[in-house]
Amino acid sequence: MITEILSKENFTIEDIIKLLNSSKDEQTELFEKSAEIKKKYLGNYVYLRGLIEFSNVCIKNCYYCGIRKDNSKVSRYNISDNEILEAAKYAYENNYGSLVLQSGEVQNRVFSDRIEKLVKQIKSLSDNKLGITLSCGEQSKETYLQWFNAGAHRYLLRIETANKELYKKLHPIDDFHDWDKRLDCLKDLKEIGYQTGTGIMVGLPFQTIDDLANDLIFMKNMDIDMCGMGPYIEHFDTPLYQFSKDLMTLKQRLNLTLKMIAILRILMKDINIVATTALQAIDKIGREKAIRIGANILMPNITPISFRDKYLLYENKPCINENSSDCKNCIDARMKIAGNTIEYGKWGDSLHFQNSIKM
Ligand code: SAM
Ligand code: SF4
Repeated sequence: MITEILSKENFTIEDIIKLLNSSKDEQTELFEKSAEIKKKYLGNYVYLRGLIEFSNVCIKNCYYCGIRKDNSKVSRYNISDNEILEAAKYAYENNYGSLVLQSGEVQNRVFSDRIEKLVKQIKSLSDNKLGITLSCGEQSKETYLQWFNAGAHRYLLRIETANKELYKKLHPIDDFHDWDKRLDCLKDLKEIGYQTGTGIMVGLPFQTIDDLANDLIFMKNMDIDMCGMGPYIEHFDTPLYQFSKDLMTLKQRLNLTLKMIAILRILMKDINIVATTALQAIDKIGREKAIRIGANILMPNITPISFRDKYLLYENKPCINENSSDCKNCIDARMKIAGNTIEYGKWGDSLHFQNSIKM
């Protein structure tokens, strides 16, 4: 039974595997425990990050991603600086507290200087009050530092899987898609002083339960401050689509992601965990379920609506037709149902990060 495991201070890899394989009844016990830990360490609060997906131009060819470079069916866009600043203003005026600038990966001077300028402008238009998270892929340490010095203080870069061999099956094998380089980027981000977030996808082709258990150990060992993990959802125009018939059902992927979130909450009590959009793509109340059992961050999409259907990483991406204010009313009600309160106007920094700098 998992009761004994849940009473332990620390989990072994075998414990984690048992928790991931837990039955429906046992799972209820796991979720009760993780919800209790969230309440005890963080309270039943949720913090917002308005998500601006400002460009789908990408130099990479990850086999799972709908906006990969070689998908010629994608109409590429790059939102103008003015439109990005308008969206940032919306986040500020509506008390979101923070925003995330996310894009495909581009590595050049024009791009790094542009982000530096945007970060400074967002800081200035919000009287330094908006927190800024970046998620623009792998960059040089100099670029990460340039953006940090401009005022960005959190960075999200998913390792995608802690298993190097699995990573090779999900990406082209070249210098460009190198697991070790991605790991080095995470180390650079931590060294610079970013609140560093990583994550993985759940239910990928070739992925095993042991892989997922190792992913959780990886995050614990990396001592991350934030995590965003969600179910893998196939996209028709990607190379990985051919393995779709061997996958778990979407419902199973959702359920396994919830277990991953619950176990991570127990392992890392004070980190920030995102209830990702991909959860909502599978289940209308997928994000609420995640919030109930341990996640504490929501990323409502505030990308101008005309661009949303061009950032389709996977099929059935939700909220591509809702404007930002519809979205705001909707999440308020949704979080209440999940028994949580949105903390408007607050950064909601990772407590784990704050505790580690005090040490
Ligand atoms: N380009 C940056 C990067 O890769 O770090 C940031 C944007 S990228 C679209 C953000 C995340 O989307 C990736 O880290 C990946 O985990 C996720 N993603 C891509 N394709 C996906 C899919 N088919 N299903 C679920 N998540 C996916
Ligand atoms: Fe580009 Fe990120 Fe998609 Fe990979 S996951 S193809 S880096 S946008």
